[in-house]
Amino acid sequence: MIRILIVEDEKPIADLLDMSLTSAGYSCDCLDNGAAAADAVESRRYDLILLDVMLPGIDGFELMEYLAPLEIPVIFITARSTVKDRIKGLKLGADDYIVKPFEIAELLARVETVLRRYHKTDTRLVVDDVVVDTQSRVVTRGGEIVPLTAKEYSLLMLFLQNRNIALFRETIYERVWENEYMGDSRTVDLHVQRLRKKLGWQERIAAVYKVGYRLEVKE
Ligand code: CA
Repeated sequence: MIRILIVEDEKPIADLLDMSLTSAGYSCDCLDNGAAAADAVESRRYDLILLDVMLPGIDGFELMEYLAPLEIPVIFITARSTVKDRIKGLKLGADDYIVKPFEIAELLARVETVLRRYHKTDTRLVVDDVVVDTQSRVVTRGGEIVPLTAKEYSLLMLFLQNRNIALFRETIYERVWENEYMGDSRTVDLHVQRLRKKLGWQERIAAVYKVGYRLEVKE
């Protein structure tokens, strides 16, 4: 599993990052200061660090100088949006820069891009006996290949990227079919039924009353 260290002293932002990245299948640790972060990277392996610039004590830029020789990818997260700061962060060896406030979708895209650059993306997603190889797009169940249509595969990926989150039918439709939802839920319901049957996920993909569906995965 990809492990991400979040160093952010604003708790609501740290919580938002933690929740979004955990739902997307990453394993996260949160720390609120640079000194603790410097200790953490020595005792645990991290694949990526999300680093706030304005931190109490050692700031993000100072910590970056300490982290640079470790060659762990770093994305700076900051409210400061001046060009000067961006250049400073990148010169210090950061891989990318996200300016607060940010969209979750943008954050996830940047995280994925940096991980891919370092060949750190998990190409195997595993839930029980179901394994998804995201490079070859091959899905197996108990070692047997499960033939999925393109829409079923997209639907499965959407659930895997939003574990334990109730997804509205409308959201599912718009994300998988990339069309505006016109209120006809039968398409979504049919595909969910097919996916449940093919993966043996009758219980796992739970129906959420008046909302839609939720993939239930105990972490
Ligand atoms: Ca801060």
